[in-house]
Amino acid sequence: MSLLVVGSLALDTIETPFGKAERTLGGSATFISVAASYFIRPVRLIGVVGGDFPQEDIELLKDKEIDLEGLQIKENEKTFHWHGKYSFDLNMRDSLVTELNVFANFDPIVPETFRKSSYVCLGNINPELQKKVLTQLDKPKFIVADTMNFWIESKYNELIDLLNFVDVLIINDSEARELSHEANLFRAAKKIQSYGPHTLIIKKGEHGALLFHENELFIAPAYPLEAIYDPTGAGDSFAGGFIGYLSKTEDTSYENMKRAVIFGSTIASFSVEKFSLERIKDLTPLEIKDRFNDFKRFADLSSI
Ligand code: AMP
Repeated sequence: MSLLVVGSLALDTIETPFGKAERTLGGSATFISVAASYFIRPVRLIGVVGGDFPQEDIELLKDKEIDLEGLQIKENEKTFHWHGKYSFDLNMRDSLVTELNVFANFDPIVPETFRKSSYVCLGNINPELQKKVLTQLDKPKFIVADTMNFWIESKYNELIDLLNFVDVLIINDSEARELSHEANLFRAAKKIQSYGPHTLIIKKGEHGALLFHENELFIAPAYPLEAIYDPTGAGDSFAGGFIGYLSKTEDTSYENMKRAVIFGSTIASFSVEKFSLERIKDLTPLEIKDRFNDFKRFADLSSI
């Protein structure tokens, strides 16, 4: 079993109704690989940062046994920067600034030792880069992809092309509508599945997630958190928990994907409790297990 992750590593500025954090650690690959590291180690990372990326953030990744052989460091350039602002309804956010910086000319190179990775998570970046990574891999067994409105709007055709090669697409509800041009989520799901992925996960923020697999549907609850400080990275932490659990168990059946959705939701629920990766950088196995069991209890319909 081996898991390869590609995506952004970022310095984010985040504004929520509860506070602001400037140039704090973020990025899709960062959240995904740290979340997945609670299930499988090492996680193989492909990405790029600039000379301004803090050494302590590199140490955090190393501490989680994330293999950085595929991380390029461009000393004379700047790290990807995103500035997001959330409204009082934390499901709504605006991207105020997206500076691609090092990602504008990124040429991902998969090291020889990573080419035989059986599980792959294509985190949110330009779909052309996601495809470039895929073409360097030697017959991966299972491919999960994530994207966001920025790429749906600027690289639609490239994204549709990528979906031909993807087993599971993970997106949120507004992205599913935008990608499919369908207002109804169930019609949107059918249409997106017809683009390639046999499985689609639609995240609905504080309302849980929907897992569509062929003609099956699983409805996962959200964790009833009273204090959500920063939703940034919830989707990526979900994806990391999901693919991390599947690669650990080496079982991609529908039944196991349901469990993986709950593990993904579990890590995501921790992620939003603090800014950046503050909450998910030091989880314990017991915390994860307890919250997983809470999820099972909240969603239990067996006595009805
Ligand atoms: P999430 O909240 O899970 O959707 O992911 C948030 C993370 O995605 C932030 O840490 C950002 O740095 C990163 N991000 C935002 N916009 C982009 C983009 N256009 N491409 C790649 N990563 C992005």
